Amino acid sequence: MRRKIAAGNWKMNGTAAELSEIAVLARAHSASDCEILICPPATLLHRMSAATHGTAIRTGGQDCHAAVSGAHTGDIAAAMLADAGASAVILGHSERRTDHGETDDGIRAKANAAFEAGLQAILCVGETETQRDAANTLEVIANQMARAVPDGATGENIVIAYEPVWAIGTGRVPARDQIGDVHDLIRSRLNDRFGAQIGHSVRILYGGSVKSSNAAEIFSIPNVDGALVGGASLRADDFSSIISALNTA
Ligand code: PEP
Repeated sequence: MRRKIAAGNWKMNGTAAELSEIAVLARAHSASDCEILICPPATLLHRMSAATHGTAIRTGGQDCHAAVSGAHTGDIAAAMLADAGASAVILGHSERRTDHGETDDGIRAKANAAFEAGLQAILCVGETETQRDAANTLEVIANQMARAVPDGATGENIVIAYEPVWAIGTGRVPARDQIGDVHDLIRSRLNDRFGAQIGHSVRILYGGSVKSSNAAEIFSIPNVDGALVGGASLRADDFSSIISALNTA
């Protein structure tokens, strides 16, 4: 049985005032069947980690550098995230691929750095609308998986997040069979490459406009082991409903 994950990506949102949302969330889910992860901006990571210590919530970063240290102004090493209390890091989010020109090879290097620091990599893959319209979705996802997922991946150190770029922040969600087809493909690629034992243990999250109103339907799709949630993770009551839907799926 794979333990499900409700992961929140706060992106570039949140200051100290919003830490109160986490306190509400922690009280609402003092015991949870699924794992709860919040990835705040780096400026909040240490405070959020301290605030969630001893609760069911763990924290993560939104990116890390591939190097251990050095002359990389503005970047953050994986070990620094761990030092600030993170147990995970989102890698290869489409906004970083677009805004910062991140490549699958670079994302693989970052994932290896995350593994070295003891962080779980939440590795994002997903097609653009143009790629879907051209019927290239499965090929795009297979290529991203082949290049970005490191050889040392296990069920503990990696989670795959399928996030169609056109569904992020748009309110648009793929049809049930479109999500299912991609999750099945990811599962079979993991099995082929790492063997069934590891392949079946890796959690595969769906991300892209997940809300309380569509969560239960998405969580009923085979091979969907939870969600990576952007906008709806910012408010405790919205995210709480998604966590509840996952716990009853
Ligand atoms: C995300 O940023 O990973 C995401 C899925 O955003 P949203 O839920 O807002 O679409």
